[in-house]
Amino acid sequence: MTKRVLITGGAGFIGSHLCRYFLEKGYNVIALDNFITGKKENIKSLLNHKQFTFIKHDITKPIKFKDRINYILHFASPASPIDYLQYPIQTLKVGALGTYICLGVALSHKARMLLASTSEVYGDPLVHPQPESYWGHVNPIGPRGVYDEAKRYAEAITMAYQRYHKVDTRIVRIFNTYGERMRLNDGRAVPNFIYQALHNKAITVYGKGDQTRSFCYVSDLVEGIYSLLLSNIKTPVNIGNPFEMSILEFAKKIKEMTSSKSRIIFKDLPLDDPKIRKPDISLAKKKLNWKPVVSFETGLTRTIDWFRNSI
Ligand code: UDP
Repeated sequence: MTKRVLITGGAGFIGSHLCRYFLEKGYNVIALDNFITGKKENIKSLLNHKQFTFIKHDITKPIKFKDRINYILHFASPASPIDYLQYPIQTLKVGALGTYICLGVALSHKARMLLASTSEVYGDPLVHPQPESYWGHVNPIGPRGVYDEAKRYAEAITMAYQRYHKVDTRIVRIFNTYGERMRLNDGRAVPNFIYQALHNKAITVYGKGDQTRSFCYVSDLVEGIYSLLLSNIKTPVNIGNPFEMSILEFAKKIKEMTSSKSRIIFKDLPLDDPKIRKPDISLAKKKLNWKPVVSFETGLTRTIDWFRNSI
């Protein structure tokens, strides 16, 4: 029997990559999205695929499915700092109520549910790199709190359903990811810098640019998620690329790779912006036999080409 996978946030950046990946592997895919940050464009080419179904739905509202669902991937959520500043309540609701609804579907269908969590659960970390055992350093009432705490709650309710209702669950903690179909105006460093560089506009580095991030190419992330889904690891697993660099170095790299004439300018650092971030991926390496394989140059070249063609 062909397995059926439900992907919430299926029209989003990562969600739309997951839809394609599961279709290529022969699964039936049902994608849900309410389009607050997802885009129809991202799934347009899948709509005629006979194993693909799209339902426009807000996952904070109950939904029932006739056909048996085998796997649920809960990826719906605003996910960039400007998105969760613009949609704070929706961000909290999709992490809390959305996860609750998904777990209810998992319980009634005896489906395995994978929650998309985030490196933001570690907040502005005091431990570096961040292993899964670190409990984090989060400001619950700051501007990022709506996302961080929604995902922390989502992890808590997922573990509660696993322990109390015996729902089969997985949790992936996703670190900064980039690639094709990122939203141009999502405000993140990758689309901002590439857009600015391609238009020879000033590249806006926040703060001094000495804060660090570690960027993972989307196909590596998707492989990691798939391995985790099929594994028996029931506690959170970091998936990301430990290749760390400062944001200023990152801006310079994009300027160089696009042969841009842009100046680099410095703007105020947003409140609670994490100073350092790098995943400890020992667990994924050991238990999933997974590690990222796409180099920074290769991933960035593909991403820049995609932006060049879609701007
Ligand atoms: N950033 C920046 N200029 C921009 C956008 C982002 O310097 O135009 C910085 C941001 O302050 C953060 C890092 O780049 O330190 C990564 O930001 P992003 O929004 O991509 O993701 P985050 O890791 O903060 O969720």
